[in-house]
Amino acid sequence: TAPDDHVIVLFGATGDLAKRKLLPGLFHLAAAGLLPDGYRIVGSTPARSAMSHDGFRTLAHDAVAAFGRSKPTGPVWKTFEESLSFGAADPEDPGPLLAAVRAAEESLGGPSRRLFHLAIPPSAFGSIIGLLGDTGLAENAKVIVEKPFGTDLASARALNETINAVFDESRVFRIDHFLGKESVDNILALRFANGMFEPSWNRDHISYVQIDVPETLGLEGRAHFYEGTGAFRDMIVTHLIQVLGIVAMEPPVSLAAEPLRDEKDKVFEALRPIEPGDVVRGQYEGYRDEPGVAPDSTTETFAALRVEVDNWRWAGVPFHLRSGKNLAQGRQVITLGLREPPLRMFPTDLPDQGKNRANKIVIDFGDPGWIAARFLTKEPGPAMRLEPATMAFGYAGSFCEENGLEGYERLILDAMLGDQSLFTRASGIEHIWAASARLLEDPPPVQPYARGSWGPEPAISELLAPYAWHLPDPAEVSPGTFG
Ligand code: NAP
Repeated sequence: TAPDDHVIVLFGATGDLAKRKLLPGLFHLAAAGLLPDGYRIVGSTPARSAMSHDGFRTLAHDAVAAFGRSKPTGPVWKTFEESLSFGAADPEDPGPLLAAVRAAEESLGGPSRRLFHLAIPPSAFGSIIGLLGDTGLAENAKVIVEKPFGTDLASARALNETINAVFDESRVFRIDHFLGKESVDNILALRFANGMFEPSWNRDHISYVQIDVPETLGLEGRAHFYEGTGAFRDMIVTHLIQVLGIVAMEPPVSLAAEPLRDEKDKVFEALRPIEPGDVVRGQYEGYRDEPGVAPDSTTETFAALRVEVDNWRWAGVPFHLRSGKNLAQGRQVITLGLREPPLRMFPTDLPDQGKNRANKIVIDFGDPGWIAARFLTKEPGPAMRLEPATMAFGYAGSFCEENGLEGYERLILDAMLGDQSLFTRASGIEHIWAASARLLEDPPPVQPYARGSWGPEPAISELLAPYAWHLPDPAEVSPGTFG
């Protein structure tokens, strides 16, 4: 079903996110025929960066040309371009924004649904939400809020109060683009639609879970943002713990938004408070020399930690989460290690790959993503020799890959449809910050690591992550090899 007619107001229209993801994503939705018949997109910035309607059309054209999957040409682009207009957002003078939204609505034939996308710095949230409340624009409207959802429990609560003072929780969409990924959504299908996996997805069969998101990218000129954030707040507390929520949740009674969010919330509530001793913070060598970084900065560019989900299903199973910048590989991988059977009747000289020998389920949720099951098999020949082998499924080239939407595209569409399934509630965010409180109060010192490495030594040693970074090489499990 297509959404009803919408006016979308994109705050932060000149920003990095708007240019790289949101404008190209909106245009891809238009090109895929997924936007409603009637839609208007109003770009907005503070008065200091105000531009004409044509200026915004040029900005959007250049952004889509530079970053879009669908190129800005042809009749779809013409319609999209004509839907764009601009209205500056100034809390002292709401006139231009009001005029732009009203003109957009009138061109659609009268009041329509409104969706506000706040792609603005956290410091600007209060004033823009206040503006939307004071002008009445917020009435019955929906709002997409970008991370970070606070920097600790107190600020997250304050932010939620600010938002909820104007927007009822049922109209708030806290966006995390990892949750819009096809391969993350598929975890629900993998877990709950398969007798092969569902029975083993618990402490009886799984000995550890690992969620690894190493990045090869560095700061990309965003030192100002990163210095006040760091890897824990930028990646772990957001993307990785959200993915953990889906890996660890109980089966919801249905796929409707509320049952799904109930189950995810329960996982966040069950997170055991993270102990500083279970965390390694790293900083790549040369970080302090980057432009915009303090010479004595203690911001971590790498975080590895062990968390536990204190509930019936997962008691005693460690979840290792790791992410960092300037690392050896850029990957997004979930690994579930299965407990080893006794193996008593097999020769004792099994191929020694340490703990890698055990069965594993590996979910690569990079794009396009794949799923692999690692198991032991008999090497052909007279002797009983076991060797590890892999069964794999890859998205590339399977089903209708071209139907796939990128995370932001899927989530903006869901927000237009009013479907909150893949968005996190205020309470969920607050549980995550509550579990992080001890670490934030007393963070361990940062440890240096070489660029292009796998991070500081303790994180890859037995101490914190006994299962190491054993991410299978994509070539090893390519669907071409395994059919
Ligand atoms: P950015 O490049 O610094 O852009 C910020 C945008 O907000 C600019 O258009 C800026 O306008 C506008 N702005 C600044 N202060 C404002 C105010 N008081 N009122 C209204 N608009 C204001 O930031 P970004 O990287 O796009 O990030 C935007 C938001 O998305 C942040 O909350 C960030 O944490 C989040 N986010 C970003 C990414 C990403 O990859 N970039 C990913 C996930 C989440 P001017 O041109 O006048 O400065």
